[in-house]
Amino acid sequence: MLKAEKLSVSYNNFLALKEISIEIQEGTLTGIIGPNGAGKSTLLKAMLNIIPHQGKVFINNEDINKNLAKIAYVEQKTDIDFTFPIKVKECVSMGTYAELKVFQRIKNSEWERVFKALKKVNMEEYSNHQIGELSGGQFQRVLLARCLAQNADFIFLDEPFVGIDLISERIIMDTLKELKYQGKTVLIVHHDLSKVKKYFDNIVLLNQKLIAYGSVESVFNEVNLKEAYGDTIFIGEGI
Ligand code: ADP
Ligand code: MG
Repeated sequence: MLKAEKLSVSYNNFLALKEISIEIQEGTLTGIIGPNGAGKSTLLKAMLNIIPHQGKVFINNEDINKNLAKIAYVEQKTDIDFTFPIKVKECVSMGTYAELKVFQRIKNSEWERVFKALKKVNMEEYSNHQIGELSGGQFQRVLLARCLAQNADFIFLDEPFVGIDLISERIIMDTLKELKYQGKTVLIVHHDLSKVKKYFDNIVLLNQKLIAYGSVESVFNEVNLKEAYGDTIFIGEGI
């Protein structure tokens, strides 16, 4: 179980997250939902101990800092450098580095894992391409392949579907569902409310504080969404 206890984050004097406590069961797909600036990315970063925060995070009751190798994380696209000169297969191989000692070369078995991961997301033909040549959707698939190569138990993705094509979205979602059935725990920051029911088992609804957390059926309703987004929210067919 992944457990956050009273996580709070302040940027200078601005309180971005206030005392968030959640417990996430393994083998589930959880969406982190909330308006722009709600603190969704901040929540992932605090859980990963990338930014200063108050509160604690545990994996199976052990401090998360002892378990960071079990987590794969793809940050929000705006934070990623697309122009970095690196081949697709090298980018995915970074997922295997967590298990390698510094300067140890990648062995054949690890390359096999890299190509298997690329195949899974239908990107094996691109293994020798530069990442700068890829479309947004292809790149996001490569980043997911990197998570697969890492063989992580927990996968954190920040807005993976923004600006990508439908086929890539479908491949990514199918892969994540498969991972979930293998017992992996997937956490996705997501903003498209129309897909929420289709994609997730559970939802964390945020706006600086935790508005609701639980199954999609219990959380994804007008009252909660209005509390998070305000009265002007257009919910459409999603609800
Ligand atoms: P979301 O991902 O839900 O859109 P963020 O977690 O990125 O929201 O940000 C939450 C709030 O914290 C926003 O108001 C944002 O402007 C602010 N914020 C995020 N990162 C920083 C930072 N490094 N310094 C100052 N303020 C920040
Ligand atoms: Mg964000």
